[in-house]
Formats: sequence, C-alpha cells, structure tokens
Amino acid sequence: MNRPPPHGIVVLGSANVDLVVDVDHRPAAGETLLGSDLVTTAGGKGANQAVAAALLGGSVAFVGCVGDDGPGGLLRSSLSAAGADVSMLQVVDAPTGTAIIMVTPDGNNSIVVAPGANRRMTPAAAEASRARWAGARVLVLQLEVPIETVDAVAQSAAAAGTRVVLNAAPAGALDGATLAVCDPLVVNESEAAALVGAEVTLATGPSVVGDLLALGARSVVVTLGGSGALLASVDSPDVVHVPAQQVAAVDTTGAGDSFVGAVAVALAEGEGLEVAVRWATHVAARSVQRRGAQASYPARADVPPPSA
Ligand code: ATP
Repeated sequence: MNRPPPHGIVVLGSANVDLVVDVDHRPAAGETLLGSDLVTTAGGKGANQAVAAALLGGSVAFVGCVGDDGPGGLLRSSLSAAGADVSMLQVVDAPTGTAIIMVTPDGNNSIVVAPGANRRMTPAAAEASRARWAGARVLVLQLEVPIETVDAVAQSAAAAGTRVVLNAAPAGALDGATLAVCDPLVVNESEAAALVGAEVTLATGPSVVGDLLALGARSVVVTLGGSGALLASVDSPDVVHVPAQQVAAVDTTGAGDSFVGAVAVALAEGEGLEVAVRWATHVAARSVQRRGAQASYPARADVPPPSA
C-alpha cells in the first residue's frame, strides 16, 4: 500500500469553538445578564497551534475529535484553510468542545470549557490512526485531551524518535515518564508555578527553569507574556532570556498557541531551541497586534526567517 510521506509536525489535541460575549460585569448567582452580540470563532489549544504552524509553512496534520455539528464543521474549515491535514480529525458522537467566554470591560475573561468531543480523544482513538501520524519529526501536545492519551502518545512517539513538544496547558500534574520525553516542555508563568510551586518573575525565572529541568524534561521554555521567554536544556543548562518584541498589543488571546506552533515549525526545520524561541517571539508579537486567536496568526511571509 502506498502511504504518503510522514508529516513534519503532528499536533494532537483539542479543538473547541469559542463563544465570546462582552458583559459589563460578571453575573452573580441567579442573575441574568444581557451581553453583546455573540462572536463565534474557532479555537482550542490544539487547533490553534496546528493553524499557527500550518500558516507558518509547516507540514502539519491535526489529530483530534469534533462532533457531527456546525461547530465541528467550522473547526475543520479553519484547519483546512490554514493548510493543515484534517484527515485524522474524527467525527464522534458528542458535541464539539465549546468554550464559553465572558469578557468584562477591564479585558479579563471568565471561561467555562465543555470538553465534549475532546474527551473522546482516548488512547485507543489515538492508536487507531497511529500508522498515519507516527514518523513525524515533531509531535505537539497540550493538556485539553485526556491525560492518559497525552502520556501514551508522548512516550510512544519519543520511543520512535519523534521530538515531543508538550505545552502543559491548562496547568496540570505530569507523569515522570512523560516529562522525561519533553523537548521542550513549554509553560507560561501560572503553569510553571503549578508545576514547581514558585512564583515566576524575571528575577526568579532562572531558578524556576532549573526546577522544571530537575523534574526531568530535556528542555524547558517558560513564556512570560510581554517579558518574553526563558529557556534552558539539559545540554545547555544556562538559562537564556529572549525578550519579547516591543509592540503595541491589542489582544493577547492565543499568543501562547502561536508561540508553540512557531517553535514546532522551527524545530521541524532543524533549528536549535534558542533559534526556535527567538522566532516564536516574533510570531507571537505579530499575533498580539491583531484581535482574536487564529485570526491573528501571521503567515510565513509576514515574519522574518527563523535564523535571520
Ligand atoms: P495565552 O494564554 O494568551 O495564549 P500564554 O499565557 O500561554 O498566552 P504568554 O506568556 O502570555 O502565553 O505569551 C506567549 C508569548 O507571546 C510570549 O513569550 C511573548 O513572546 C509573546 N507576547 C505575549 N504578550 C506580548 C506582548 N504584550 N508584547 C509582545 N509579545 C507578547
């Protein structure tokens, strides 16, 4: 049987439809509130990262689950339009994952996620398509699908020689055997704090990165929003600070996902981790200058080359 060549990047994870409504305050218990018109967009950390990587020119396949419903179709379309292979996006008997997002005038979000179809991304479901995603150069995972799936897929992919990028978001505990194959583990400040129990600032960052490496990851990247990112690896344990690009941010939604997608593309192209992180800060800086998550992600031509 003829099989297509392996993808450079496989993203296995969540696909959610984001339902966003502006409110003038968070509703109290029992209160009904009139908000703005609803804005419906494609989201979910896995889908966002796949879209970001595909727009940057990566050869990307997305492995995930959606329902047989309109939001599932929206997610399939947005992934395809970015250039990602959606042949491993399964339609299951559950509603598409949905994030209900209320935004208050101070810019803060209150979010409820109904995982729906994402819960069907079980180890067995991942295994069913293994022949088509195995052999990727880079596998990208997050924590919005069952943790047993993340553990099984990370460990088996690494054993087969695939580089595993794990974005441990939202914050959660990690199995030691999974941590041991992360190259890199990517976390933001609050996810880092959840893993090592210490607040992350530019001052404490280097010791937190050291603590994260001590948990067993082969390399670690901590993103610090407008302060950039820190990285270190077992081979280069001296912590490097990559400052963020100085830009006027209008909406940081999904910046972390564009960052992870860019890291994956650069690593799949054979760049080292520091080059990948420097490039990702350019990509994420572009994303914060436009509204939305996927809608804000740049194309390859919009950013300088990784090693520039
Ligand atoms: P989100 O949950 O909003 O997707 P996150 O918390 O996962 O984001 P952040 O640490 O906020 O991730 O941001 C990721 C990267 O995006 C940063 O390392 C930085 O390079 C870039 N970035 C974020 N905010 C800004 C900003 N205000 N100006 C420039 N770059 C930014």
